[in-house]
Amino acid sequence: MKAIIIGGGIGGLSAAIALKRCGIETEVYEAVKEIKPVGAAISIWPNGVKCLNWLGMKEPLQQLGGPMEYMAYKEFVHGQTLTRFSLDPLIKSVGERPYPVARAELQDMLIDTYGRADIRFGQRVARIEEFDGGVRAWFESGHVAEGDVLIAADGTHSVIRPYVLGHQTERRYAGYVNWNGLVEIDESIAPANQWTTFVGEGKRVSLMPVAGNRFYFFFDVPLDKGLAEDRTTVKADLTRYFAGWAQPVQKLISAINPDTTNRIEIHDIEPFMQLVRGRVALLGDSGHSTTPDIGQGGCAAMEDAVVLAMALQTNSLGVEDALLRYQEKRAYRVKDLVLKARKRCDVTHGKDMNVTHSWYEELKSETGERVLSGMRETILGGPLE
Ligand code: FAD
Repeated sequence: MKAIIIGGGIGGLSAAIALKRCGIETEVYEAVKEIKPVGAAISIWPNGVKCLNWLGMKEPLQQLGGPMEYMAYKEFVHGQTLTRFSLDPLIKSVGERPYPVARAELQDMLIDTYGRADIRFGQRVARIEEFDGGVRAWFESGHVAEGDVLIAADGTHSVIRPYVLGHQTERRYAGYVNWNGLVEIDESIAPANQWTTFVGEGKRVSLMPVAGNRFYFFFDVPLDKGLAEDRTTVKADLTRYFAGWAQPVQKLISAINPDTTNRIEIHDIEPFMQLVRGRVALLGDSGHSTTPDIGQGGCAAMEDAVVLAMALQTNSLGVEDALLRYQEKRAYRVKDLVLKARKRCDVTHGKDMNVTHSWYEELKSETGERVLSGMRETILGGPLE
């Protein structure tokens, strides 16, 4: 069997590695000549980590992950701790730890595991069609590829999604802007072994350790879409939005490098239950586009890859049947993740400030139990024990 994989991001490469591991021939096509991930880092939660372990990347992943042992929320004016707890009970109950990692390093690990020379960079798919017994993809370069199955891992702006769904989808603006980047660890801003989040006014400022003595930082601010702001104004913008916030937040704003700080208007797509059509499967953000509020978009793409490989490996009823089994296993899971993230997004970003204030109050009495039990439920919904 031969699989054509469109997209060389987290989803496409996880799928390519998974299928190769199951003895399926793969061809990966990536539109750009050099992948520049839209974001500085990503937290891989234990459900995603288990998938990468299954794909043979356990040791390299451990090298990339930051030592995130604790989690803390702080109020925004004085930086006083609202709650702080160990992640250990979570790790013990799900059997793996989370790893915050720099995106470029994650991308390199996936590329090296699959084989850099085997990825066809600079090949943008224009359209696809199925024929009796196979599927064909046309590229803007004029190249044509044929396979038994096609995996569309071409991201949130997928050109293949309308073929599968039979209609176009709209991206929904989630109501906030996220700035993110990497900065050298400074323990006067936050402890080096902790995921620290300052909350107030429906905004947040968060820091997570990644390998190499760096913090992954992000700032979220509820804002209108389409403002005239970019990297050139980032320090002034953040200084304005976070005026009156605690000293560590001011220090972080001074420390960041505007040239490597990303500004992203956060979107998702209303979940849909159809992930496959015939011999074509959506995987990763093409099939489920979520806000990053529970850090599960990339992890879900890794889960998709594992489930897809398992389904295709046991395909005695044919490719179409295997894809339907993939859809059956994934559609509810990914819908649940998108909707959970949306709910979390609204509470965090002050969609109704009364609800957001109640959450700030709740954090004062949080022992870790409620937060960790929500995370545990999400993590244990993944495909691997
Ligand atoms: P993409 O990463 O978008 O990759 C798609 C690839 O397909 C790209 O390389 C693109 O060039 C290529 N492509 C597109 N069109 C074509 C075409 N026509 N032909 C050929 N190739 C094409 N997830 C987590 O798990 N944890 C987190 O902490 C987390 N934090 C996030 C923070 C932010 C601010 C954002 C925006 C997202 C976050 N996510 C997180 C989500 C995660 O980044 C995505 O879910 C993940 O990158 C999706 O991977 P993908 O491979 O499906 O899509």
